[in-house]
Amino acid sequence: MTEKIPVKDVTPVKIEKSQVQITKPSYSARSRIYVRSVQGMFETIRRLFGLIMIGLFAVAPWIQYDGSQAILFDLAEQRFNIFGLTLWPQDLTVLAYTLIVSAFGLFFITTFAGRVWCGFMCPQTAWTYIFVWFEEKIEGARNKRIKLDQRKMDADKAMRKTAKHFAWVSVSLLTALTFVGYFMPINELFIDFFTFDVGFWTGFWVIFFTVCTYGNAGYMREIMCTHMCPYARFQSAMFDKDTFTVAYNGERGEKRGPRSRKLTPEDVHAKGLGDCVDCNLCVQVCPTGIDIRNGLQYECINCGACVDACNGVMEKMGYEKNLISFTSEHELAGGTTKIFRPKLIGYAVVLAIMTSLLIYDIASRVPLEVDIIRDRNSLDRETNEGLIENVYTLKVLNKSQLIQTYNIEVLGLTDPKFMGNTQVTVEGGGVYTLPISVAVDPINLEEGTQKIYFRVTTSVNGEIVESTEPSTFIFTGV
Ligand code: SF4
Ligand code: SF4
Repeated sequence: MTEKIPVKDVTPVKIEKSQVQITKPSYSARSRIYVRSVQGMFETIRRLFGLIMIGLFAVAPWIQYDGSQAILFDLAEQRFNIFGLTLWPQDLTVLAYTLIVSAFGLFFITTFAGRVWCGFMCPQTAWTYIFVWFEEKIEGARNKRIKLDQRKMDADKAMRKTAKHFAWVSVSLLTALTFVGYFMPINELFIDFFTFDVGFWTGFWVIFFTVCTYGNAGYMREIMCTHMCPYARFQSAMFDKDTFTVAYNGERGEKRGPRSRKLTPEDVHAKGLGDCVDCNLCVQVCPTGIDIRNGLQYECINCGACVDACNGVMEKMGYEKNLISFTSEHELAGGTTKIFRPKLIGYAVVLAIMTSLLIYDIASRVPLEVDIIRDRNSLDRETNEGLIENVYTLKVLNKSQLIQTYNIEVLGLTDPKFMGNTQVTVEGGGVYTLPISVAVDPINLEEGTQKIYFRVTTSVNGEIVESTEPSTFIFTGV
């Protein structure tokens, strides 16, 4: 082999700072979005959903059931009360099923209609719209707000800014108090908070959630949706060519451009123009500040505001509506949307199965839990009467919200003598720990270990509720 490998000099060359030429900034600062208000079908639907959701959030913790707060996630006592149902850490399956149902519900709805959850139901969107509503009422419409922000500080500007921030802080504080009210009695929380009588941690969480709400809905807004929400990132995995998303019909709209309203559609087309008048309204109403005419973008939350805005323009121009619409990629390409497709059916089937399991799990739930622990210090012992005795600790957890009386019996032994209470009363949500011993005549025993059962029964609304726990009885021989 005679050919030589060419050698290249790779000695690092030191570049002086003054030689570095910055051509383009790698990071551009965020420009503030001034959302323009819009009227239309999707705006009405969003307001309706927002009102229902916020109304439910605000009212639910105030509802009383059987003399106590109907919905209370009592972390200190480790139990969740949801009307008559009390969930304990042992009821993890209910939580697991609920999360699975929520996840598949979201997958199903996203595959069918894109990010409609984000646009119509997400708390981030709902609270942002409340904040924007106050902003608009106090500072004025979009153009006025832009001018106000460009203006130097004067008395009018200071007054408007103060009023806006006061309104934002008030909404944030009420939101935080309501949210914390899901975790502790809300009546007491409101009274204690406004009489400055709350404990340190309660006060801390109220202030913490106030700051979070204020920051998120007042300043973060679309940043949460575009940069922080994980859902925005993995939603594309669920999209297919039949998913309904907000899209611009480029074939119909281009070439975009302004024109006189007096021109007939034929004149317009003769000039080579499409139906988009390039009014920019679709961009101005967009809460994430994108231009939907640039195609499907991950920032789009499918809120439909641009559809409403563009339909208004089309109406004024005397053009057909839906230049921007909820449509599928197939439909946009001239085909038809396939509603029943394997992916969607798959999600629907899993959703139906998991919902059934969740309902079954809640319906078949026994409001009683029994735990039996065998005394590990001694296997067995002989009593003064010559009986063989084993000692246990029985725990009875009343998972209902009412006081209950329980009967205890032992099964699986011949003529056992039960020493301890055979009946105990436990308050709602309480645990009763009971030391008991079981003694048996050795002639009724075989040497070794015998399986036995402790059965605890009670009656709830005329129905027998029981829990049977296995344990062992040990006879080491005489
Ligand atoms: S609102 Fe409609 S007409 Fe106006 S710029 Fe947007 S797409 Fe074009
Ligand atoms: S592009 Fe349209 S649908 Fe998407 S977020 Fe903006 S306004 Fe809403």
